[in-house]
Amino acid sequence: MKSRNTVSAIHILDQATVNQIAAGEVVERPASVVKELVENAIDAGARSIRIDITSSAKEILSIRIIDDGSGMSPADAVLAFTPHATSKISRIDDLHKIHTLGFRGEALASIAAVSRVTLTTRLRNAGEIIGTRVLVEGGQIQETGETGAPEGTSVLVEDLFYNTPARKKFQKSKNTETAHIHAILEGICLAHPGISFRLYSNQHEQLVTDRSSRILDTIARIYGSDVVKDLIPVNLSLPFMKISGYTSRPSLSRKDTSRIMIAINQRYVSSTLVTGAVREGYGTLLAKERFPLAFLTLEIDTGLVDVNVHPTKKLVRLSRENEIARAMSEAVKTALLSNDLIPDAAAPSQIYLEESGSETATVPDPCYDFTPTAPYGISEALHAGTVMTDRQLRQTELPTGMVPVDAKLPVMEVIGQLGGIYILATTDSGELVIIDQHAVHERILYEQVIARTEGDHRSQELLVPVILHRTLQETAILRDLIPALAQEGFVLEEFGRDTFLVRAIPVVLGKLEDTTMIDEMVSDLVSEEAVRSVNTRERITRVIACRGAIKAGTVCTREQCLRLIHQIRFAKNPFTCPHGRPTMLRFSRTDLDTMFKRT
Ligand code: ADP
Ligand code: MG
Repeated sequence: MKSRNTVSAIHILDQATVNQIAAGEVVERPASVVKELVENAIDAGARSIRIDITSSAKEILSIRIIDDGSGMSPADAVLAFTPHATSKISRIDDLHKIHTLGFRGEALASIAAVSRVTLTTRLRNAGEIIGTRVLVEGGQIQETGETGAPEGTSVLVEDLFYNTPARKKFQKSKNTETAHIHAILEGICLAHPGISFRLYSNQHEQLVTDRSSRILDTIARIYGSDVVKDLIPVNLSLPFMKISGYTSRPSLSRKDTSRIMIAINQRYVSSTLVTGAVREGYGTLLAKERFPLAFLTLEIDTGLVDVNVHPTKKLVRLSRENEIARAMSEAVKTALLSNDLIPDAAAPSQIYLEESGSETATVPDPCYDFTPTAPYGISEALHAGTVMTDRQLRQTELPTGMVPVDAKLPVMEVIGQLGGIYILATTDSGELVIIDQHAVHERILYEQVIARTEGDHRSQELLVPVILHRTLQETAILRDLIPALAQEGFVLEEFGRDTFLVRAIPVVLGKLEDTTMIDEMVSDLVSEEAVRSVNTRERITRVIACRGAIKAGTVCTREQCLRLIHQIRFAKNPFTCPHGRPTMLRFSRTDLDTMFKRT
C-alpha cells in the first residue's frame, strides 16, 4: 500500500479526463449539441441548415446537422477537434468585437469527447472536387480520409454520452429532450430569419422556416398567423443601440415569459433584465402576472456586450444595462401608445388585510382564471343564476343533511354580490366576510379531487372529440402527460402531427358549454411554468380545480351564494385557494370601528 507520507495525494488529470470535464460545461444535453452545431453552421455563412434527429422510443440516437456554409479544408477539419481551436478569434482583444456565435473553440472538441462524431466537409467555391471525412470517438481521431461530399459541412453525432454514464442517465425522457431542442431552435430561427431551417425527427418534418428578410414570416411559420395578427411593431434607434421587432397587443398575453424572445446581436439570449424591461413597458395594460409575447432584436455595440460569461453563451453581460433596459421599456411603451390601447381607468387602490387566524399563504402562483365580466357595483343577487353555475355547484354538492365536522367557518348569511366576483356575507356575530367566489369554489373542487384515490376519476366521453393543435414543443410535453392525465379522467390521444384528440374529460368539469376551455386547460398544463413544478398530479388537480370552478365575473343568485358558502364549510383549509391566495377576508365589528376611528 502506498503511504500518504511519501506519495503525493495530488495528481494531474490525464487529457481525456480533462476534456470530459470541460465537455460537461458545454454539452449538458442533446439540445446543447444541436445549439453548438447549428451555431457553427451559421458562423460558416450557411443559408440553409438542416437538422436531423433520430430516436428510439426512449432516447435520442443521433443528431446530424447539414449546412451549405463555407466548409473546411482537410487540415482544418482535423484541427477543429482540438480543444481551443477556433478560426474566429486570435487574441484577447478580439473578445470585445465578436460578430460570430462561437469563439471559444470548445464545441467540437467537447462533443467529440463524449460521443462518436463523423464530420464530412468540402470547401465552398474553392474548386475542390473532393471532400474530407473525419471520424472521432471519445475525443480520439479514428480515421481521416477523402470522400465525395457536397459543399458545406455535415456533422453526425452518435452515441452521445456513451462514456459518461452519469450524464446519460440524467437525461430526461426523449420527449423532454426533443422539447428542449425545439425551444432552442425556435430562438435561433427568430434570431436568423435570413436562414432557412429544417428540423426532422425520424424523417418527419418538425419545424421549417424559409429564408426571409422579415422576422414576421418566421414568427408566422413557428407560432401561426393568428399570433402575427396581434403583434405591433417596435422600433427605436439610439446611438449605441437599435431595437426592432414586434410585441403583442395586451389582448394577447401569457402567464409566463416563455414567449418573450430576445436576440442580442443575432444571439438568442435569456436575460431577466431585458424580459423584465419588456413587461415593464406594459405597465397596467396587462394584469399582474401576465406577460406579453415579444420578438425583439437588439443591435448593441459589440463593446457593450460580454458574451464570454458562460460556456453556453446563452447568458450575456451588458454594460450600461440600466440604460438598455430603460430604452427597451420605452420602445415597447411607445409602440403600445401609438396603437391607442391604453384604457383611461386609473389603477385601483389596493388594500390588503391579513385574514386573522388563517394559514399563512405560501408564495401565490398565478391563477389561470381571472376574467371579470360583470359590471362593478353591489348587486342584490336577485339575478337569475346561470344554468352553468348550477351545474358547477352540483358537481361539488354534498348529500343533503350532511353537516361539517370541525367546521372552521361559521354559518353565514348572504348580503349580496359585488361585481360578480365577491360575495358579501355576514356571520351570527356580526362580522362582515368578503368571499372570492372563484377562489372558494376552486378550493372546494381541489380538495374533492385530491380526496379521490388515484385512478378513481370518472371521466365523461365527449360526444364530439375536441381537436387540439399545439406547437411542436408543447406537443412533446403533452405526449409525456397523457398517462398522468388518464389517471385523472382525461382521455387524450395523439392524432397526427401536432394534433391531439380529447375523447373524455373528468366528470367534475361538468357539461362543457364551451370547448375552448379544454384548450385553455391544456395550455395551462403544458406551459413551461407548469412544467417546472415537480408533482404532475398536483399540477393537473390544480388546473382541473381552477377551470372547473365558478368563474369570477359570474353573477350568482342568493341561493347559489348560500350553497357555495355551505360547501366551503366542509373544506379542510377554507382559507386559501390552491394557488395560495386568500379565499375570504373577515372584518369584525371592532375591525370596522377601528377603521372608521369610532374607538
Ligand atoms: P468555435 O465555434 O468556438 O470556433 P468549435 O469547436 O465550435 O469552436 O469549432 C471549431 C472551428 O471549426 C471553428 O472555429 C470553425 O473554424 C470550424 N467549424 C466548425 N463547424 C464548422 C462548420 N459547420 N462549417 C465550417 N467550419 C466549421
Ligand atoms: Mg462553435
